[in-house]
Amino acid sequence: MRDFSPNSWEGRADAHSFYGFTDLPTVHDRGTVVLTHGTGPYVHDVHGRSYLDANSGLWNMVAGFDHPGLIAAAQEQYARFPGYHAFFGRMSDQTVMLSEKLIEVSPFGNGKVFYTNSGSEANDTMVKMLWFLWASEGMPQRRKILTRVNGYHGVTAVSASMTGKPYNAVFGLPLPGFIHLNCPHYWRNGKDGETEEQFTARMAAELEATIIKEGPETIAGFFAEPVQGAGGVIPPSRGYFQAVVPILRKYGIPVISDEVICGFGRTGNTWGCETYDFMPDAIISSKNLTAGFFPMGAVILGPDLSARLQEASERIEEFPHGFTASGHPVGCAIALKAIDVVMNEGLSENVKRLTPRFEGGLARLAEKKNIGEWRGKGLMGALEAVQDKASKTPFAASLSVSERIANACTDQGLICRPLGQSIVLAPPFIMTEAQMDEMFEKLEKALDKVFAEVA
Ligand SMILES: *Cc1c(COP(=O)(O)O)cnc(C)c1O
Repeated sequence: MRDFSPNSWEGRADAHSFYGFTDLPTVHDRGTVVLTHGTGPYVHDVHGRSYLDANSGLWNMVAGFDHPGLIAAAQEQYARFPGYHAFFGRMSDQTVMLSEKLIEVSPFGNGKVFYTNSGSEANDTMVKMLWFLWASEGMPQRRKILTRVNGYHGVTAVSASMTGKPYNAVFGLPLPGFIHLNCPHYWRNGKDGETEEQFTARMAAELEATIIKEGPETIAGFFAEPVQGAGGVIPPSRGYFQAVVPILRKYGIPVISDEVICGFGRTGNTWGCETYDFMPDAIISSKNLTAGFFPMGAVILGPDLSARLQEASERIEEFPHGFTASGHPVGCAIALKAIDVVMNEGLSENVKRLTPRFEGGLARLAEKKNIGEWRGKGLMGALEAVQDKASKTPFAASLSVSERIANACTDQGLICRPLGQSIVLAPPFIMTEAQMDEMFEKLEKALDKVFAEVA
């Protein structure tokens, strides 16, 4: 426990700010990193120290921390029309334009968009839409939601129920009717002698058995991230979506692609569902929708769900749901600019260009005897630490290996994220080759230091 003076930034942060998803002993020991500003992919703290942020903030600041075009878009919209809602048949011109743009860049050809302030609220909204829709079609019993273990869908009571992480048990969650299928992580969950194809077939068979056991007439929808992000950057096993989507179709279960991380270029295509070649019924977007410059989420409905929801709403006169700041004009103006920046200023090309270097760096570090696996897609990746490589035995949780690696990185001016036994990297799309090399060099030093201590 370090003694930070009550007047220090660390002391002041600890006195009156409550942290979420933060290891409190670490903060007490090391102090909060209090940041003042950012330049490109770097952030700077109150002591003048700089950090290369290899996580794009929280996956979202893909254009860096000082993009002039995004700042100008915000400033101009604040000067023009700084706020409005989207209730009672009114909405801002920016909201109209963003919906057009989102449908244009979606895989759907046609559809409708509904706005929220976050990814969690977008998932909650989608669940309410499904409940509303099925009830209005005479099937009020279709309420169960299928997701996967290690899926991350947010923290509100419903989206936390969808999230497949054990920490939600302290809240008495999940709520009834939220069912978690197994995580399609072949390296960790494949059985001895099982091929990846057999593993995928087993995941698909489990899905179908679950649907039959629960009763297809009780299931409202299936939600999946194309690559599980906050669960540890877990790409699906080969052929996973090709195996599960037809089963869901067979039972009339809507397929929702939670693209809050994968969306807008992270996996090398605009959407993760393009990377994995499946067509969802709706897409959930947030995080880099605004390149992190405004809190905003969106439910993007394909043509079938749009038409059915329209009909359901007309039957009872309205869809009784919405947030005060849904479709906020500043958020919409920023999102319009962010989509333009990512798609037309070379950022999505840079993701494709840098991916081989990124994968090469991960693969090289995975040769270390305490790295069991590297995995990833596009510019999201993870290295999983193990005590024993051959048997995939993890380090004892009490050693907090991934936290120590992340702390050793911070000491060298690199921010990356510990997740379970893994270290997660999600660099901003503006990263240069030299910055990527800096990232891997610093990470390697941190890995070597911590493995020397614990192995
Ligand atoms: C972050 C995330 C969410 C939740 O978004 P918030 O804005 O934090 O509520 C939902 N789904 C996925 C896939 C996410 O990564």
